[in-house]
Amino acid sequence: MADAKGNSWEEKDRANVLHGFTDFPSLKENGPVILTHGEGIYVFDVHGKRYLDANSGLWNNVAGFNHKGIIEALTAQAERFPGYHSFFGRIADVTVALSERLIGLSPFDSGKVYYTNSGSEANDTMVKMLWMINRRKGQPERRKIITRINAYHGVTIATSSMTAKPYNSEFGLPLPGFLHADCPHYWRFALEGETEEAFTERMARNLKDLIEREGPETIAGMFAEPVQGAGGVIPPSKGYFAAIRPVLREYDIPLVADEVICGFGRLGEMWGSDYYDIEPDAIIASKCITAGYYPMGAVILGEELTAALETACEAAEEFPHGFTAAGSPLGSAVALKALDVIENDGLIDNVRALTPYFLERLYRFGEHPHAGEVRGVGFMGAIEIVADKKRKTSFDGKLRISERIANKALEKGLICRPLGASVVLAPPFIITREELDTMFDLLEETFAAVF
Ligand code: PLP
Repeated sequence: MADAKGNSWEEKDRANVLHGFTDFPSLKENGPVILTHGEGIYVFDVHGKRYLDANSGLWNNVAGFNHKGIIEALTAQAERFPGYHSFFGRIADVTVALSERLIGLSPFDSGKVYYTNSGSEANDTMVKMLWMINRRKGQPERRKIITRINAYHGVTIATSSMTAKPYNSEFGLPLPGFLHADCPHYWRFALEGETEEAFTERMARNLKDLIEREGPETIAGMFAEPVQGAGGVIPPSKGYFAAIRPVLREYDIPLVADEVICGFGRLGEMWGSDYYDIEPDAIIASKCITAGYYPMGAVILGEELTAALETACEAAEEFPHGFTAAGSPLGSAVALKALDVIENDGLIDNVRALTPYFLERLYRFGEHPHAGEVRGVGFMGAIEIVADKKRKTSFDGKLRISERIANKALEKGLICRPLGASVVLAPPFIITREELDTMFDLLEETFAAVF
């Protein structure tokens, strides 16, 4: 398809668009995929080609790409009261309703919600909240933030510093004061002969040592994804959160669960924190909060942090922070409907019911000679590709092997995500058993074509 001047969409994209987190050689070779619409778990490009999106957009479009009810909620709110500036003293009724709903869904008995437009902004906001609380408490030196190697928390300057991935060195990050603790990935980081239990104990011991070394009085908080997502789907080692929780409590360090991916059902529970019994002090939410139909992020503070922040804000007379478009009526109406759909129309039930089958088909890849580790929990799965299974070595080559697999999958009409050396699957919550079969059949064909 081309415009009146004969330029294709691909040419126009190349001329005008800069793509983030996109492999430049692949983009040059294959061009971008330019989409026009979606139906259920499928999206369609400008040439009419259909793709099964095994990544739910970016982990977020979980109710399908043309959900009637969500579109109606968006349209109805657009007719009623579409836009309003942020929640600076004035707020739309639907946003209040959403806040009540979120606190009800949260693991907290009571608390408060603060809105942003993205997960990055929500994590960034949480850092500022902790800094302000501590400063007003008379502990201004309590500023350091702990995250874990392989974590992904976003792309702002603070959250890039929290995202412990090598690519952030491109920006000269992390900033000082952002500490990266161990990644609890047993397969990758266990010592020779170390049991998983001993590994978990070592993770907790190392965290304690890090806190002691840095000075507990300098640590503002720890952020953790229940399952590391963009790090390549890394579930914690057995007993990990139970082991680190007492360490953090001992030093009075709040734990913030970054539920941007796990929140709202990806693991078959409302929260990853429920699944792993994390008992966080605050939750960072985004993505599925609107099922991908509107940009929104939220900080959900538990009782104690709410009280601490409100005390700080009373002293300062305000919380001097806020985004113009956050807490928008449109986003709020969409979120209310999306949460209804996820919770009451059987989406979480579907994730729970189909997880065993999803994992069964995923684990079949374990037999492949180049599948180093196959990992999965709920509707999150990864196949980590290695050149040599025993030595866990990576493939050489300019184009990452996972990227090559994802490119081949695209040719076959399957969208899957190359993350590090892993191929990641995170299907929409509405997927059926038959569609799971189609998804895995396409991936098997892809592997057969690549190796
Ligand atoms: N936190 C986690 C765990 C994420 O996976 C992401 C994005 O994928 C973010 C934060 C950042 O969210 P956003 O891309 O909406 O800024």
